[in-house]
Amino acid sequence: MTTSKDAFTRAQVAIPGGVNSPVRAFGSVGGTPRFIRKAQGPYVWDDEGNKYVDLVCTWGPSLLGHAHPEVIEAVREAANSGLSFGAPTDTETALANAITARVPVAEKVRMVSTGTEATMTAVRLARGYTGRDMIVKFAGCYHGHSDGLLAAAGSGVATQGLPGSAGIPRGTTADTIVLPYNDIDALRQAFEKYGEKIACVITESSPANMGIVPPVDGFNQAIRQVTTAAGALMIMDEVLTGFRVSGAGFWGWEAGYKPTLPATLPPEAEAQAPARSNWAKGELAEASYYPDIFTFGKVVGGGMPLAALGASAKIMDYLAPLGPVYQAGTLSGNPLATAAGLKTLQLADQGVYDHVDKVSAQLQQALRDALEAEGVPYTLNSVGNLFSLFMGEGVADGVRNYDQSKAQDEARYTAFFHAMLAAGVALPPSCYEAWFLSAAHDQEAMDVILNAVPGAIRAAAQAR
Ligand SMILES: *Cc1c(COP(=O)(O)O)cnc(C)c1O
Repeated sequence: MTTSKDAFTRAQVAIPGGVNSPVRAFGSVGGTPRFIRKAQGPYVWDDEGNKYVDLVCTWGPSLLGHAHPEVIEAVREAANSGLSFGAPTDTETALANAITARVPVAEKVRMVSTGTEATMTAVRLARGYTGRDMIVKFAGCYHGHSDGLLAAAGSGVATQGLPGSAGIPRGTTADTIVLPYNDIDALRQAFEKYGEKIACVITESSPANMGIVPPVDGFNQAIRQVTTAAGALMIMDEVLTGFRVSGAGFWGWEAGYKPTLPATLPPEAEAQAPARSNWAKGELAEASYYPDIFTFGKVVGGGMPLAALGASAKIMDYLAPLGPVYQAGTLSGNPLATAAGLKTLQLADQGVYDHVDKVSAQLQQALRDALEAEGVPYTLNSVGNLFSLFMGEGVADGVRNYDQSKAQDEARYTAFFHAMLAAGVALPPSCYEAWFLSAAHDQEAMDVILNAVPGAIRAAAQAR
């Protein structure tokens, strides 16, 4: 039998750090990453055959649980017809329509392979559309690892303690203004000074890569207001929150927009467009705001490499081949990935969201009870079913921005993480990440988690 330790030793010879994405290396919590052999429903199994209830959910995509039989079947069927064509398919249109049906502001959708590409393209599109160079982002918001957006970018970067990254020329981020999150005054001042030069504000709809740090009341609306006034665009990065916090993502959750789910058309109509007319005055009349460009990833690919950006037809038509903003991808809209994404959205009905909300509330309550019982100072931030825990004296008064998030006592999370792992629960190996649940987390899986929490919080209480 091969152990994770052996596997990690071999991997570190062949791959930098033994991993293909830094957080997987357990750098901030220490110890050996579990090498995963199999995932099913709410569980993952490592090379040694240990079974864990999974609260990583591949960092968000497995909303339905791992290896949902209908998603696997859709991918299998697609694979039988060929892995990639480099030519358009009807499934891409169907997936675009499924996205539009949930988030009507996204009248047209372009598919890419990663969230990084989606946000990179969104920024390029905003610059091309406005003819301006400067962009605004917020400290602690992560938008993938493209050069221009890797300034004060949260989670992985936070955990490594790097200011941004080596290898990025100063000129690349020179046009990126980084502001503290949730600071409406700083936002207004930046627009007073540079408003006419700013192409866009890019924001996580609700930041989830410095831990969960929800926008304060009116923050997203303030972004909408200053960008509109200055002729800049508002990019809402829903790569993590999209189709997870609600059927219409965090935006739907905050703006009170509820698509009828499952928001997909009958098969015979799938390749036809849903109604794109009148969304501004009709369906969205009750929404308090809407951004110009959305980016999606994670859930939208159902576990396959797929992400997307969507906006009004007017903005989207600036993309090649119609417009002057170039963007492309050999594997973009890949038939296996679109099959997985489409099936996932088709299956993600209101019952799925209700269930994830319910088990998330259960876990949040269990955490609060244990933290109170052990007297651990903490903040538990949540937006719907997404939440994360900050422990330590430094965070007891709340976490509303990146500096406050960094004031958490990482040693407490490390102790908690390893106690949970020993009890058969796999948490994100970093205190700067959100925890993810799925529709497959049934009571049996939840009981494993709920039984492990008190002891693990005790370990956190004793950590120094
Ligand atoms: C994960 C994430 C990205 C990057 O997506 P990748 O597919 O990892 O490139 C971008 N923005 C947000 C908000 C994310 O959570």
